[in-house]
Amino acid sequence: MSTVTNSSLATRDLQHVWHPCTQMKDHEQQPPIPVRRAQGVWLEDFDGRRYLDAISSWWVNLFGHAHPRINSAITAQLPQFEHVMLAGFTHEPAIALAEELVRITPPGLTRCFYADSGSAAIEVALKMSFHYWQNQGQPRKRVFVTLSNSYHGETLGALAVGNVDLYKGTYAPLLMDVLTVPSPDCYGREPGESWAEHTRRKFSLMQTALERYAEDIAAVIVEPLVQCAGGMRMYDPVYLSMLRAACDRYGVHLIADEIAVGFGRTGTMFACEQARISPDFLCLSKGLTGGYLPLSVVLTKESIYEAFYAEFIAQRAFLHSHSYTGNALGCAAARATLGIFFNGPVLETNERLAAHMTQRLAPLVDHPHVSDVRQTGMIGAIEFVRDKATREPFPWQERRGQILYRHALERGVLLRPIGNVVYFMPPYVITPAEIDLMIEVAVQGIDRACA
Ligand code: PMP
Repeated sequence: MSTVTNSSLATRDLQHVWHPCTQMKDHEQQPPIPVRRAQGVWLEDFDGRRYLDAISSWWVNLFGHAHPRINSAITAQLPQFEHVMLAGFTHEPAIALAEELVRITPPGLTRCFYADSGSAAIEVALKMSFHYWQNQGQPRKRVFVTLSNSYHGETLGALAVGNVDLYKGTYAPLLMDVLTVPSPDCYGREPGESWAEHTRRKFSLMQTALERYAEDIAAVIVEPLVQCAGGMRMYDPVYLSMLRAACDRYGVHLIADEIAVGFGRTGTMFACEQARISPDFLCLSKGLTGGYLPLSVVLTKESIYEAFYAEFIAQRAFLHSHSYTGNALGCAAARATLGIFFNGPVLETNERLAAHMTQRLAPLVDHPHVSDVRQTGMIGAIEFVRDKATREPFPWQERRGQILYRHALERGVLLRPIGNVVYFMPPYVITPAEIDLMIEVAVQGIDRACA
């Protein structure tokens, strides 16, 4: 009997599987790693090697892999039914999840529209905003405003409102035009300037755009507090408060994409809470199911829902329909995930873990190739550069991040730098000792990558 090994599975994989976000030729040097099992923060491959999942499997996992409570919620739902369509039919997991989401999200969000991925949620929010203005007799309002360096997914609408060239450049001819305003990203602040001062100063550019083009704008879309795929660039909550007030002043929707930052990542359950604001549309996915199943949701306000509510012949209904909308297994996983939040002091525990991370990251400020160390809650990032004084980055062609990635794998840690930014977004069940390991390996990786 032949045994299954990393190598035998990787060989089969490369015959037929086309991987995401990957130059497949790279796998000639570094084959994909087949996972046999995963438990807590650890992944294990077929050769028995273990890897600390320091990036929560693309930021989806909250409470570790194979969590008993989420496992049993899914297995309890399974004998009832797996999935039924959500048009004309409904089910308790979708109803109860909507009730819970309305209760825990910022005030005023009363309606939940389900979809099945983060990108799909963005498409829903964009279409709903546009369609709302149509229904209100304001057809001119169809422009979306986005921040530079933002990321909202990779379907064509979501890609259009994103601004990371790596993902967008090639497909630009296919995308709708948007209005892009410089990001408040605090990496660019002046020496001695605080995050809040910088962020406030940057808001004037948004203010100008809204003032000038409000009649044509449907919505502003932002990633609250952290531009994740854009290299974990961060800004102060004051931007969100000012943006909320300006959107109200100019009659423009605010779409908060909390797909990556929701569910405790930034220290609060939702990042918008730190600015005490409610968006008009809140997009959630990733951690929603604890990292188990693809599910997303857009929450919106009663007044927006009402603009679509009319006799059939008025033709005002929202038109969007994914086959797997409101999947029952996904909703069961999501309810169990929220149950973990309700059952214990998750955010308080995270605060202690985040403080530990802060302490361990602090010495890196003096590293000769580190230009910035930043953190918001359970998201930490280190930016490494060729020249610390001028902040000149390493050319992207040198792929320094890849050196770090490989080093970390050899040492049993999964880190996946974005360009020259190595970041940490671990599951909340990580221990202080595991945080030490993760950062120690990252520092060695930086030393190797910068050599
Ligand atoms: N928005 C943000 C802020 C994200 O980080 C992501 C995923 N990285 C998405 C949208 C897209 O989500 P998905 O990959 O599930 O389509």
